[in-house]
Amino acid sequence: MSKNGNGNGNGSKASRWFREMDEPRKWEDFYRRRWQYDKSVRTSHSVNCSGSCSWEVFVKNGMITWELQKTDWPQINDETPNYEPRGCQRGISASWYPYSPVRPKFPYVRGVLLDFWRAERKAGKDPVAAWASIVENPERSQKYRNARGKAGWRRTSWDEATEIIAAAKVYTIKKFGPDHLASFSPIPAMSMVSFLSGHRLSNLLGGTMLSFYEWYHDLPHVMPMIWGDQTDVHESADWYQGVYWIVMGSNLPMTRTADAHFASEHKYNGGKLVNLSPDYSDVTKFADLWVPVRPGTDTAFLMACIHVILQEERYTSKCSFADNEPVEKHERYWGKRLRSISIHGKRVKCNLFRRLSGQIINGDVNGAYNILAKAVPNAFAEGREGLALVPRSLAISRKC
Ligand code: SF4
Repeated sequence: MSKNGNGNGNGSKASRWFREMDEPRKWEDFYRRRWQYDKSVRTSHSVNCSGSCSWEVFVKNGMITWELQKTDWPQINDETPNYEPRGCQRGISASWYPYSPVRPKFPYVRGVLLDFWRAERKAGKDPVAAWASIVENPERSQKYRNARGKAGWRRTSWDEATEIIAAAKVYTIKKFGPDHLASFSPIPAMSMVSFLSGHRLSNLLGGTMLSFYEWYHDLPHVMPMIWGDQTDVHESADWYQGVYWIVMGSNLPMTRTADAHFASEHKYNGGKLVNLSPDYSDVTKFADLWVPVRPGTDTAFLMACIHVILQEERYTSKCSFADNEPVEKHERYWGKRLRSISIHGKRVKCNLFRRLSGQIINGDVNGAYNILAKAVPNAFAEGREGLALVPRSLAISRKC
């Protein structure tokens, strides 16, 4: 309070708690202009999160001024929680990317390579010969490769960049054949048009298209090669149905922000969650059990888990599911796991199981049902009849 007791000292109305200003309020227009817009459009983000959250973006003079998270994803069914709220901190600030002063808007080439290239072209060599004289010269080749990871980029024109790329491709095709062109295109989750144009170019040239796992190295390479699919093969809403989660190598609220709520909601469905991480990560707050593995020991820890499963839990493969044999260790088991058997004169390889009746069923299916019965005792409360025990492969052909 001021000396004269009116609380503001400028002669305006006195109050102990606030003061009325008779100063100009023009500065408020700054904030009004900040939120003005000409139109709004619906969109999402192509930043490789593959979240596809629903956003309304407000545009003024052709520029994104701000964005608003929408909450209108449809509900899947009555049993699964809403998808919303989605969105994340990266998404709400995504419009900063296109206008960032550090965003690359022009092609860049490593300076050392550009110097070699320009010297060869200036000497009159055609593009393919110029490229050959760089990559076939051990000293030059090593020099520009060693420059990788050490910055030194230099801006160039689109024409020059395109010429270098075309020369490299033609050189490789002539010298080694088109199948030695190992190509990568921006991933489909980020931009279908960019992805497909790169794919098409590679296909037309007869090159080999690598998966983006090989390029980013952020996910296991062998997964798409063996299974033809990415690692995150199920739908995030399925997390809600999970009964026992083991989370490792992922900090869901940080890296899968839009779907992380399913991790907490599945607890309402009776699920349990174990988190393996050296630090008390954000997942740990959902966890029933936190396993603070020491950094660098995760592989050993998982090997130990596999050992326990193989040594102490293998009775699940020995009990006869179809005969209602209790899933526990026995002196003698009712069924028998068969490594090799001859049926109708034809040798069938391992993974078969003979039940009490003598019927041969699939061994993996028998074990999997037993694991389910052990984890969820009332999973088969309505009986085991009618369950598939012997999967069959079907040959499907199409007649045109
Ligand atoms: S997860 Fe984030 S970045 Fe990805 S679409 Fe949703 S809001 Fe955008």
